[in-house]
This record gives sequence, C-alpha cells and structure tokens, in this order.
Amino acid sequence: MIEVEPMLDELSIGHEGRLAWVNNCQSPEELYSLISRTLGQQGHEIATLPKLHQLALVSKYDPKEYARRHSMLAVRRVAAKCGLDMPHGAANSYAFSKRLGMLPQRSGAYCCIKCVEEDLNNTNHAFSWYRRKHHLVGVDWCSIHSCALSRIDSLVPFTKLPHIPFSLADVAGKPAPLKSVRIQSQLACRLVKHKSSPNQPLDSLDG
Ligand SMILES: [Zn+2]
Repeated sequence: MIEVEPMLDELSIGHEGRLAWVNNCQSPEELYSLISRTLGQQGHEIATLPKLHQLALVSKYDPKEYARRHSMLAVRRVAAKCGLDMPHGAANSYAFSKRLGMLPQRSGAYCCIKCVEEDLNNTNHAFSWYRRKHHLVGVDWCSIHSCALSRIDSLVPFTKLPHIPFSLADVAGKPAPLKSVRIQSQLACRLVKHKSSPNQPLDSLDG
C-alpha cells in the first residue's frame, strides 16, 4: 500500500479519498480492505476500529493527534458528560469517532480557488486538498484569501482532488466579509483544532 501523508488541515474524508486515488481503489470498500490487510500485517487488531483511527494508523499517526489535526470532532461534538475525560480520537471515544469522525461540519465539499492555485504552484507537492476550514458552517469565505468559497458540484466530490476539474459554483457570491465576520471565521477555524474533550475550556486552545 502506498502511504499518503495527510496535508496541513486536510479533512479526514478528503484524505481518505486521496488515499484511495493514489492506491487506485475504486470504492471505499476496496480501500478499507487494503487498509485492513496492511494494518493486520503490522499486528493491529482493526475489527472494531473506526475509520478515523484506521486512517491514523495507516498514516503512522497517533489517533488522538490525527483526530485533532484532521477531523471536525471539535466542532461536531460540543457537549459531554461532566467529569468524563474522553479526548477526541481516544480509545474511550470510539463511538464518537465512528459516528462523527469522518464528517465535515457542513454538507457538501468546498474549496478556495486561490488556495488551489497556490497548492498547484507549490513545487513541494503540486496538488490540492480539502481543508477543514473550508467546511465550517457559516464560513463562506477563505480565511486566508477573503474570497468566496466554491462548492464542488458532484455527488462524490471527495473521490477526486479539488484541482481536478469539477463544476464549481460560488457559495453565495457575496462580497468580501465584514471584519466582524472575519473574526468569527477565525475563531471557528481555531476551534476546529481543539484537542481534547468538550469539557476542556476554550482558553486552553492551542495552535
Ligand atoms: Zn484560500
């Protein structure tokens, strides 16, 4: 199996699609069969592992670190029973990882055309990927370029990379956001990196 390093802020389902694409798997079932064989050969017991954890292990990541960097659990799982320490991606959080670990916060797939252009001009990789910060509810602009995001017009958008021609449509065709909206967007982008359980106070967020 060809290893595929997850990129900065890459959405887990986008990483899954890129892994399938690189390994020429035609369906999720084919990909996870390949992952299962690969992890089994490495001695992992994967029968009950959530997909999020399988992607972490096959990328040689600690599942908690992978969840913090690539899932949207921090903005999807926003409440927990008091006193229980169940970090995102931890073994005692399997139920949350299985249910929410591969989901963007909003439906559909989005990209920023300028981010894609910069990705393709980067001589270190020259491909694009789906970012978590482009899949937050209420954030219709790229926080870096302040331009409207584009929605990928496809039923299976994550099976391809954003730079492979899709039909695109501006999310809202709105002008550049107001400063207050930009600040809210930045807070949402920061929240998605929250590394622990919902019980952890927000002032302990880190970059
Ligand atoms: Zn951008």
